[in-house]
Amino acid sequence: MPSPLSAVSKLTRFLVRAVPAASVLCAFVHLARGGFRGLHSLGWTEAALVLFLLAGLGVMGWRRFTREAVGAPLYLRDDVELGAVFLASAFLVVALAGGAAFPLVYLLMACLVAFLPRVASGVLLGVALAFDALIVFRSPESGLATFLIHASFLSLFAGLNHLVLAARIAAARRAESAAVDKRIKEVEERARTFRLVNAGTHDNPPDEKEQEKWLLASVKEIEGAVGAALEIAETALKTHTCAAFLLTSDDKGLKLYDCRSASERVQRERFNAGEGVLGGVLKRRAPVRMHSAHGLKGITWYESGAPSVGAVLAVPIIEGGGLVRGVLIADRHTHNPFSDDDEKLLTTIAAEVLRSIEVERVMTYIRKTRDEKDRFFRAIEELNRAGSPEQVFLAVLESARQLAGLDFSAVTIVSEVEGKRVHKVARMLGVGSAGKAIEGTTFPDNNGLVANVVRYGAPLPGRDLKAMDRQVIFDEETQVRGLAALKIFPLTAGDRILGTLVAGSRRKTALDHDVLRMLEVIAMQAAQAVLRAQLYEQMERMATTDGMTGLYNNRTFQAKADEMLAHSRRYGRKCSLVLTDVDHFKSVNDTYGHLTGDQVLKGVARILKQQARDTDIVARYGGEEFAILMPETDPKGAKVIAERIREAIKAEVFQTEMGPLKVTLSLGIATAPDHGVDKLVLVEQADQCLYYAKRHGRNQSVTVAEAQGGRKLQAVEG
Ligand code: GH3
Ligand code: MG
Ligand code: MG
Repeated sequence: MPSPLSAVSKLTRFLVRAVPAASVLCAFVHLARGGFRGLHSLGWTEAALVLFLLAGLGVMGWRRFTREAVGAPLYLRDDVELGAVFLASAFLVVALAGGAAFPLVYLLMACLVAFLPRVASGVLLGVALAFDALIVFRSPESGLATFLIHASFLSLFAGLNHLVLAARIAAARRAESAAVDKRIKEVEERARTFRLVNAGTHDNPPDEKEQEKWLLASVKEIEGAVGAALEIAETALKTHTCAAFLLTSDDKGLKLYDCRSASERVQRERFNAGEGVLGGVLKRRAPVRMHSAHGLKGITWYESGAPSVGAVLAVPIIEGGGLVRGVLIADRHTHNPFSDDDEKLLTTIAAEVLRSIEVERVMTYIRKTRDEKDRFFRAIEELNRAGSPEQVFLAVLESARQLAGLDFSAVTIVSEVEGKRVHKVARMLGVGSAGKAIEGTTFPDNNGLVANVVRYGAPLPGRDLKAMDRQVIFDEETQVRGLAALKIFPLTAGDRILGTLVAGSRRKTALDHDVLRMLEVIAMQAAQAVLRAQLYEQMERMATTDGMTGLYNNRTFQAKADEMLAHSRRYGRKCSLVLTDVDHFKSVNDTYGHLTGDQVLKGVARILKQQARDTDIVARYGGEEFAILMPETDPKGAKVIAERIREAIKAEVFQTEMGPLKVTLSLGIATAPDHGVDKLVLVEQADQCLYYAKRHGRNQSVTVAEAQGGRKLQAVEG
């Protein structure tokens, strides 16, 4: 039950709310009864009436102010009452001052038409005519003619003003939508010029950072263009809110894209797309216009607590193909309905919003693919630059990992050893559970995936594997665990299969169609690079080594000697040179032939290589003469090695086609810097020692000290 207090306040509110209408009615009645006829007629009643009208004006003013402050809509009655109070006041003045003051009414009517909605203006025109009839027919001297003149002027004023105003608003709207069009075209033009046209071309790559900046700027400008379009709609349509909502990917929700609103309560969270006014728009795929004096139902784009909406215009955002992407809405608190022109403007803006979404999408796509293309081309370039096989392997794996986000990758190389295929894991990249370091391991031809890829020259596995951990990639001993996706590509160059590229990831979806295609191309390029590197290596080997013995050739010996002697000169480090010559080799050739001689030479070279240390440089000096460079070695150390070699040669029985053979070796030893730091001098010294050895019975090694001591000895003997 309502309390008495609330009943009293309700009554008070009703009475106050009645003041404007009552004051107009009183003025009407008083004029009808002949009030306000000349200044002499003014008395207490007139004063009270004027005060009453002022009170009515005050109430209307206050109502407008408070309603607008909370954003509540104003109704037709409010507009009519306000206008009527003004009109009543004007007619009181006309009654007082006579017919000459009538233009005041015309002026007032013009103002009312300009500021109030069309329906309210029409009602007020009727009110004005009623007042006028009252005054005109009351006085004896005027009659129907005067009323008709007044009436036609009043209607003309109202009508003309309305037309002029409507034309001006329409022109402004046209200009505004033209401005929107122009702006969006400009932005698109720029985007095309700076981004789309450049995308993917690498002839003259512009600065990456610059490009990135341009992209961001273009997207920002397009976003700004949508904002500006909404702003124009807001101003031109006098909206409370103008907003674009896009459908979510499942088409079931709507999400705010951008808005211009006087309200803070526009829904920023996703909301149901199937409900209310917007549900209807999306279902019908056509614009919807609604208005109601009592607030519309089905307004879903505000959070709770938002003021009521009097008029709505909603336009679907539809793609060229007919796909609905979202909805653009404009609303007002007043129930002042949206017009056909309004709908046209909002439809234009919906098209702009759609275009901006499209451009944004295209740009994101281009940026993504451009980045991928860039990385891809960089990877290929890197591969082509790589010189040695080592560099190639690393470049392949690095680029494969970067492009495909691999957790595990490896390059295997196949070779033939004594007619049998042997696979070697040349290089691998992988972490954690992706297996122990298996780099460098070799395995024979087996039934593993790598061996099969080499055998059949096609990528494996063909389909997704269920039990990935049980797959043998290399061999049984080398398990790689934790992979969810795997593909092994052959490294094919011409009709040769050089090895494989193994690509694995812990993510099941990592190796999608695009990634596989990219890896395939990388594998092709890698095969070419490996082949090139292997050929290069072979050529380099041929240029630096002796074809028959496999030892360094004289050219390489000279270079290495220069290097070592420079070091010796600079740091005073010892470095020994041993020159050797096979004893009586001519007779081997003469007795058994050159080919047998060659076989013996190969054997001698093998023994030299075996007996020398890893750091020693063993070279074929020429003919059946060999040289050994020994870094960090004094004469004593060199003598030990020389003797070891001599003993080994002496002990060796060379198996030749002409039967077993034995030879001996003479060696001369000189050491830098003791016996000179100049290459020629040192070689001369070693040669002298070798000559000394030959002269003193062969099959011996002789140092400079021994040779000099021997000479002195000889001299004494002599
Ligand atoms: P000495 O003990 O004095 O060294 O007697 P030697 O017969 O070995 O004499 P020398 O070193 O002057 O002879 C070099 C011979 O080695 C001459 C040449 O026929 C032979 N020879 C040089 N290069 C080759 C080669 O590549 N293959 C073969 N089969 N013989 C070679
Ligand atoms: Mg010789
Ligand atoms: Mg010889």
